Amino acid sequence: MSRKVLVLGEVREGSLRNVSFEAVSAAKTIAEGGEVVAVLVGKSVSSLASELIQYGADRAVVVEDEKLAHYTSDGFSQAVLAVIDQEKPEGMVFGHTSLGKDLSPKLAARLQSGLISDVTSLEVVGGNIVFTRPIYSGKAFEKKVMADSFIFATIRPNNIEPLAKDESRTGEVKSVSVEIKDLRSIVKEVVRKASEGVDLSEAKIIVAGGRGVKSEEGFKPLKELADVLGAAVGASRGACDANYCDYSLQIGQTGKVVTPDLYIACGISGAIQHLAGMSNSKVIVAINKDPEANIFKVADYGIVGDLFEVLPLLTEEFKTV
Ligand code: FAD
Repeated sequence: MSRKVLVLGEVREGSLRNVSFEAVSAAKTIAEGGEVVAVLVGKSVSSLASELIQYGADRAVVVEDEKLAHYTSDGFSQAVLAVIDQEKPEGMVFGHTSLGKDLSPKLAARLQSGLISDVTSLEVVGGNIVFTRPIYSGKAFEKKVMADSFIFATIRPNNIEPLAKDESRTGEVKSVSVEIKDLRSIVKEVVRKASEGVDLSEAKIIVAGGRGVKSEEGFKPLKELADVLGAAVGASRGACDANYCDYSLQIGQTGKVVTPDLYIACGISGAIQHLAGMSNSKVIVAINKDPEANIFKVADYGIVGDLFEVLPLLTEEFKTV
């Protein structure tokens, strides 16, 4: 059954986030040969529409307004609901990001629709779209189909392959004017912390430190390895609680959920709450001086040793590759 499916293109600092292209790919599967319509919401975002089309969307609808310069669930839900009203889609896909996690339940409630969140893969089986998503903190996976005719899902970044970019693809880009009113919150200013390097939630390689790193200074060899690998630096809650690093780096059940191609865990014991955030990484390397550490149970490669000795060796080795 072919469907019209909307995809929200997520913009950060003037660029589309990778998960938007992954969402287009998921939407193509759901559309089953139907139309994929990218939706862009914000201020001065229309120039990004062509990139979503190059990644597989058939056309794009853009809602621009000064009041949408920064994300608010009120403003964005008014914009997206107006597009839904015009387009009458049979499905919708968002990234399972902070924005997607905030906006999608609100829209699902307004649309009286179900929502399958945090999807890691999807396929068409016997005429149904079957979604796979982790449960019990990543210890098991469940397969779900939507009981409603409207299919609404959020997809976990880094799990669904985007389609190859085709720069010759073109499609209609339509601007829609929506009156954004009665905002209950207005973002006056966004003050960013000086971010260091690669975005953790979309990183292909993560070097993460735990309490074994022992101090803020102890993160230095991790950062050096991360620089050589083009990786992001992450942390366990143990390291954050000990004030060795900022909580924005925390990975786990109450931190970020990541699925990089390579996760290098340094001085992390492997508590269940940490595993919840990283155990689906494609390749896990653990460096720990305790051979009994739980992290080795999920690791593909383990190095039993002192991270302060092992990391400089790895950094030197990778510099020569
Ligand atoms: P530890 O458990 O203290 O492990 C340190 C490891 O470093 C040890 O294995 C040790 O052998 C090794 N080590 C020490 N020195 C060296 C060295 N020189 N070289 C190599 N290895 C060394 N935790 C999270 O990470 N993320 C979460 O989101 C999270 N959410 C939680 C939610 C709840 C409700 C609760 C109750 C807990 C949560 N936790 C979370 C905390 C979790 O239970 C653990 O306490 C925490 O993950 C431990 O962090 P750690 O592995 O860095 O520290």
